[in-house]
Parts: sequence; structure tokens; C-alpha cells
Amino acid sequence: MTELLTVENLHVVFQTYAGTVYAVNGMTFDVQPGEIFGLVGESGCGKSVACLAILRILPGHGRITAGRILFDGRDLIQARESEMQAIRGRQIAMIFQDPSTSLNPVFTVGSQIKRIIRHHTRASRKVTEQRALELLEEVALPDPLRIMQAYPHELSGGMQQRVMIAMALASGARLLIADEPTTALDVTIQDQILELLVELRRHVGLSILLITHNLGVVAETCDRVGVAYAGQIVEIGPTSEVLRRMKHPYTQGLLAALPSAQQKGKDLLSISGNVPNGLSVIPGCPFHPRCPRVMEVCWQTPPRLAAANPGEMQHQVACHLYSPEVAQ
Ligand code: SF4
Repeated sequence: MTELLTVENLHVVFQTYAGTVYAVNGMTFDVQPGEIFGLVGESGCGKSVACLAILRILPGHGRITAGRILFDGRDLIQARESEMQAIRGRQIAMIFQDPSTSLNPVFTVGSQIKRIIRHHTRASRKVTEQRALELLEEVALPDPLRIMQAYPHELSGGMQQRVMIAMALASGARLLIADEPTTALDVTIQDQILELLVELRRHVGLSILLITHNLGVVAETCDRVGVAYAGQIVEIGPTSEVLRRMKHPYTQGLLAALPSAQQKGKDLLSISGNVPNGLSVIPGCPFHPRCPRVMEVCWQTPPRLAAANPGEMQHQVACHLYSPEVAQ
């Protein structure tokens, strides 16, 4: 299968008063057509920055310094700004954690959706109205006629997120980047939004790049997952494989930190130490200051992504524990 999106050896830096922040340091992953790919990691691991880089909407002091971002074969880093304007929204849409910041508070939901449909299709008023209602039905909003006339503040957070997803569909986007789309919602609504994303992948064939800090969300939703740490992918593969036979000590730490019924009454586990601040590039393995299994080689030599199990290239891990030359 040909990848819809390929991010290859991406590097992004930010110039700040404290110095250069190395936010993304050689990140590589891809999203296949019709797939939900999860990018998981703690805050500050570079996952959201990588997504802003894909759309070339980094804040003013951020810069892509190396790498390739191929969307449908086109290199987005080399694309002219006018080409990017045609790609943003129309081919790649993005939704964020807090939908209320993306909706315009002074226009009704209906007028915001219809404006997008008209912009992309130039359809007649009647067809636009009909399509807007269909979209609200597609995202399972009850009473679409009423929702069309509502202002964003009249809707709950979950309903607002559904409207944002309807707007992404209105543009005809083939790839939806969903950056922590359920983090601000309460648990039952979170599940409904995740179910909706899975449903849209099935029925509309939408490809989804799902950014999350929550391995539980990945387990429920994603076909494949990339685990990000210090701006790099440290483990990647089919979700069931990565979660059942995880190799990287960081992935193991993330899973151990998930609350479970068995741990009731006990302290929650966490990974010791902090996520690096990015003000310098850590030599060797970026996880070595926090790794419970660190070896001497880890201090100096960066591990590369390689097959996690002999002959199985789908599941890859970047850790010296699995390099035949250095494993003990
Ligand atoms: Fe730990 Fe070394 Fe593996 Fe890094 S390479 S995760 S420090 S064992």
C-alpha cells in the first residue's frame, strides 16, 4: 500500500530567549490510506509540534531544519505557500483539544459549516444546506436542524468537537489530524468521540493521525502506533503487537503508569525523572537518564529503529537492548 503521509527524519527547532529548543529530532512515521495511526507520548515529546510542521503552521519562532514530509507524494516542506493554502483544510484538516477555540463564537454552527462547503464545492444554497444537515447527521448530532441554528456556546464540549469533525468532513479532507481530541471531555463523551472517529474511518475512508498521551485511547482506536520520546519515534508497529509485546523501556513505563483496577488502593506508578526540556540534544539514547535498564553504550551511541523481533519489520524499536552487536 502507498502511504498517504510520510514524515521522514523531521527536525524542528524553536528559537527562544533561553536558547534553541530542539523539539523534533529525526521523527519518522507514516500514515496509510484509511488507517488510524496513533502518535503517543508525554507532553513535550514533540508529537504536536510535528503535526503543526506537517501543516506548516509552526508559531513564528519555529523552523523545520531537516527532513521530508510527503503527502500523496508531494513534499510539503518544499511546497509554495499558495499550495499549502490549498492543502490545509481541503486535504488535511486538524482538530484540537479545545474545540471552542476553533469555532467562531459570533456565527451559528450552520453558517460556519455552510461557508466551508461553499468554499470547497461552490454548490447552490439548497445543496449546501442539505449537505450541512447530512454532515451533522454523519457525526451523530441529534436534531441537526436545531444545531444548525445554535451558537457554539450553546453546545457542550462533546457536541462542539462533533461540529469540528463535521467541518473537517465538509472540506473533503482525506487526512484528519486530531490533536488530543478527547482530553478536555469527560470520560463517557471521550468514548463516543473515539467511536465516531473509528466509524468515520470505516464509512468515509478517512485517514486519521491521532495525537494522544494516553495508551488506553491508542488501544481502543488505532491500527498502528508510534511512541514518541524527545522528538523521536522510539517504538512503532501494529497497536496490538506493540501493546502486547512492547520492547522499549519507555513504552513499558507508559503502560505501567496506566491506572488499572488491580492497582486500586496502591500508589500510581510513574516514569522517574522528567521529559528533557530540549535545550540540548542528549548524547546517546535520549531516554538514558531515565531508563531503568541503561547500559554503558546508551550514554554515547544513539540507537536506531530496527526490527523488534528478527525478521518482523512491522514492529520496530530504537533500543540497544535489541541490537545484536551490543545486547548482553
Ligand atoms: Fe534504555 Fe539503553 Fe534502551 Fe535507551 S538504548 S532505552 S537507555 S536500554
